[in-house]
Amino acid sequence: MADKSSKKTTTADETSTAAPTPTPAATPAAPRPDHEAPSGADFYQIHSTQLEQAFKVANTPERVRTILRQPKNELITNFPVRMDDGSYRLFKGYRIQHNNILGPFKGGLRYHWNVSLDEVKALAAIMTYKCALLEVPFGGGKGGIKVDAHTLSRDEMERVTRRFTHALGNNIGPDYDIPAPDMGTNSQVMNWMMDTYINTVNTSQKNANLAIVTGKTLSAGGTLGRTKATGQGIVYCIQEWAAERGFDLDGATIAIQGFGNVGSHSAHILSKHGCVLTAVNDHTGTIINPQGINPRKLMEWVEKHGGVKGYPGAESVSRDAFWAAEADIFIPAALELQITPEIARTIKTRVIVEGANGPSHLGVDEILEGRGIDMLPDLLANAGGVVVSYFEWIQNKRFESWDLEEVDAKLLARMKKAYQGVRKFAAEHGCTRRQAALALAINRIARVYDDRGIFP
Ligand code: GLU
Repeated sequence: MADKSSKKTTTADETSTAAPTPTPAATPAAPRPDHEAPSGADFYQIHSTQLEQAFKVANTPERVRTILRQPKNELITNFPVRMDDGSYRLFKGYRIQHNNILGPFKGGLRYHWNVSLDEVKALAAIMTYKCALLEVPFGGGKGGIKVDAHTLSRDEMERVTRRFTHALGNNIGPDYDIPAPDMGTNSQVMNWMMDTYINTVNTSQKNANLAIVTGKTLSAGGTLGRTKATGQGIVYCIQEWAAERGFDLDGATIAIQGFGNVGSHSAHILSKHGCVLTAVNDHTGTIINPQGINPRKLMEWVEKHGGVKGYPGAESVSRDAFWAAEADIFIPAALELQITPEIARTIKTRVIVEGANGPSHLGVDEILEGRGIDMLPDLLANAGGVVVSYFEWIQNKRFESWDLEEVDAKLLARMKKAYQGVRKFAAEHGCTRRQAALALAINRIARVYDDRGIFP
């Protein structure tokens, strides 16, 4: 087992700009999708501003603010992989470990051309607060590789994943840092990670290490309900919101940005509640059909064609037409920083439900509030994924397997509790739901620092 002292960490007070690393020579030019391409630096800045606002609401002690402002560890690794044509390409991988006072670092791995140190730093911090809000005994982490996953063959994807896992070595572990799927990764990628880890890091404890990643396929130690978990959690949140507002979901229209795991499962589950999907935007284009788009058929189309573009059951329109479309519920489920103040001023909807992490710019919440539009923030709305990851981790640790009803019931209970907690806090403190969610999470973390003190 590798010595912990061999960790390739940079010190926590280094910033991404202060730690220049070579650009992988062979990373292809980023394709420009039909989304706004967010800047990692802007995203980190916006996250930091939101954090400072929440510190004020929560009246957080300065010593805790200082700790939470920076991640604990920042790992960057450049690793070579043999491509199908025999050439070698260098990839840049990240793993940011933000905080582990509540439990092991936890969070997804993103394979995307837009991955950057600043982006992953913000996403890792978001995981810390998401776990704290949902009372999941994990800290926050996030990682990724700067690569367009669509350009890799299945074999290349496997070699990239195995080599990255090997490079991370003992910097991850089932009781230390537990990766999961995120954009561009899936249960197959998690299977490869798990298999590589247990075969290289601690072979004498192979079966004890199944919990090294979550989001695996069922056959490889995954749990029922994990694939749809984020979408399911979003729907539970929407149901709570509908009950709060006396809104009938039957016949409600929905618009979704991003039709990957989160967007597609949200649409499918919502359709079972009578909701009608009328507009979808993804990196390939935008489609609209006021009569309704069948989520199942669209899922099959996207599976085959890589995106919503050209789907025969709807009209192709411009990206702007997506945000101009009218829908009762808007679910951004793609990249961060998609909803600008300008969009917030004009969007025609009742509620925005953040399936993505950080899809809104600063100022959006206040504009929406002024227009009587509700916002269910990411920490709350998309937490279903990590909650069910926690259930998978428990099952692995205990060699148990729960049925789907049990997983869903436990997820529902947590989502309800978190939703009502956020609602109550926002009402009592006269703040936005985003500030309430962050402040509640920060308070839980601050209490632990108070009780335990800071070593030495
Ligand atoms: N990537 C997901 C998220 O952003 C899930 C993380 C996990 O299951 O650990 O919440």
